[in-house]
Amino acid sequence: MDAEEFRRAGHAVVDWIADYWATLGQRPVTSSDPPGTITAALPAGPPVHGEPVDAVLADLDRVITPGLTHWQHPGFFGYFPANTSGPSVLGDLVSSGLGVQGMLWATGPACTELETVMLDWLAGLLGLPERFHSAGRGGGVIQDSASSATLVATLVALHRASGGRWRDVGVDRRYRAYTSTQGHSSIEKAARIAGLGDDGVRPIEVDPDTLAMRPEALRAAIRADLAAGEVPTIVVATVGTTSTTAVDPLPAIGAICAEYGIWLHVDAAYAGAAAVCPELRWAHDGLEYADSYCFDPHKWLLTGFDCDAFWVADSAELVGALTVMPEFLRNAATESGAVVDYRDWQVPLGRRFRALKLWFVLRWYGVEGLRAHIRSGVALAARFAGHVLADDRFELAAPHPFSLVCFRLRPGDENDVRSGDEINAALLARVNGTGRVHLTHTRVAGRYTLRLAVGSPQTTGRHVDEAWDLLSATADALLTEPP
Ligand code: PLP
Repeated sequence: MDAEEFRRAGHAVVDWIADYWATLGQRPVTSSDPPGTITAALPAGPPVHGEPVDAVLADLDRVITPGLTHWQHPGFFGYFPANTSGPSVLGDLVSSGLGVQGMLWATGPACTELETVMLDWLAGLLGLPERFHSAGRGGGVIQDSASSATLVATLVALHRASGGRWRDVGVDRRYRAYTSTQGHSSIEKAARIAGLGDDGVRPIEVDPDTLAMRPEALRAAIRADLAAGEVPTIVVATVGTTSTTAVDPLPAIGAICAEYGIWLHVDAAYAGAAAVCPELRWAHDGLEYADSYCFDPHKWLLTGFDCDAFWVADSAELVGALTVMPEFLRNAATESGAVVDYRDWQVPLGRRFRALKLWFVLRWYGVEGLRAHIRSGVALAARFAGHVLADDRFELAAPHPFSLVCFRLRPGDENDVRSGDEINAALLARVNGTGRVHLTHTRVAGRYTLRLAVGSPQTTGRHVDEAWDLLSATADALLTEPP
C-alpha cells in the first residue's frame, strides 16, 4: 500500500467509523447469534491475491459488526464503561502510523517524554499527591491495564518486603497480600503470577452497609500473619469496587500500612477518573499514604482501550525491582542516568506510543470537557436511582457515588415460589434479550443484584429513562404472570 492508496483507504475507514458511531443507537446492543456464527462466515484461509479495503469494509458490515457487543452504544450499561472517543481514535491512528517502539528513551525520545508529561498532567488533573509527580522521586507510566498495574505493584512490594532478595532467590509462600472481599480478581491473579500461592491473598471483610474494607479487620489479619511468621507484603485498597463502587477508607488503611511498613497500592481502575471533578476528590482522601496508584482512562475518561495510568511514589524502587540490562539494549542515554526507560516500569519490554491518544484527548476536551463527561455520568446514574427509589417494587442495593447503580426487584408476594435471585436473573435476561439495553449483574451480600453503569458518551437522559421504562414494564410482566 503506497501513501496515496493509504490516503484513499484511510479516508474510507474513517468514514466507516463515523457512520458506525452515527448509527450505533439503531443497532441491537448485543448479538443474538449463537457461538460459531462468525467463524462459519469467515473463509478457511487468507485470499491468495490481495483484496481492496472496500471488500474488507463490506465484510465488517456483513460479518463482524452483527457479531459484536457494542460497548459505545447509548444503551450499553454493562460492567464498567470502556469509553473511546474521536480524539482517542485519532491519537491511536497516529501512533499506529508512526509505528514507534518506546521501550527505551533512546528508541523514541518523544514517546517517553510525552508520556512523562501526560502522566504529570493527569496527576494535576486528578489532584494526586505531589509524591506521584515526576518532579520528585515519583512518576507515572502507562500500563495496558489495571491488572498489569497491580501485578507490577505486587512485584515491587515483594522486592521491598524481601529486602531485594526475591530478584535472586524468588519467593516462598510466606508473603501475603491483603485486599477486601470486594477487591478485583486481578489482585488474586497478580499474587498467583508473583508466586504467592493459593492462600497468598487474605480477603478482608467489609462493612455491611458501605461494602468498604474494615481497617480493624485488616489490622487483625496482619497481626495474625506476623504472629505466624508470615510477611505482610502489599495491601491493595480499592477506590470504586467492581461490584458496587465502594470506596475503602484510605486514611485508616494507609496509617496501618505505614505502621507495619507494608506497600499500599490503590486500585481506582474505574472511579479514579471521577477525581477530575473537585467535588468528587473526597474518594482520594488518604492517597498520600499510597506507594502506588492506578486508574484506567480507558474506562471512564474517553480514552480507548488500552490505557491504564499508574504512578509510584519512588520510581527508583520500581526500576530496582524490574530492571534487567542485556548487552543489546545498552546505550549512552541510559548510561548517562539522565533519562527514563519505561521498559523498567512494566512487565513487557516493548511498548506502544499510547501517550499520543491521551494527548489528543486532553487537548480536545480540555479539563472542563472531561469534567462535563464525568458529571453527566454521575447525574444520569442519580436520575436512574431516582426511578428505582420511586418504585416500591424495586430497591437500591448499595450507595451510588459515581455512575453505577446497583438495584434489584423485590421478590413477589408470599404465593410467589420464585426466589429473589430467580426473579432478578429473569428480569436481567429479558431486558437484555430485547437488544435495546445491556446490563450486567453481581452479588451484594450474597443476593443477585443488577448493575446499571452509565458510561457511553452517547448516553443521555432519554436512554436512561427508556432503560427504566423497559425494566419497569418487564417487572410488571414478571410479577403478574404465573410463577
Ligand atoms: N480493578 C477494578 C476495581 C476494576 O473494576 C477492574 C475492571 O473492571 C480492574 C481492576 C481490571 O481492569 P483492567 O481490565 O484494566 O485490567
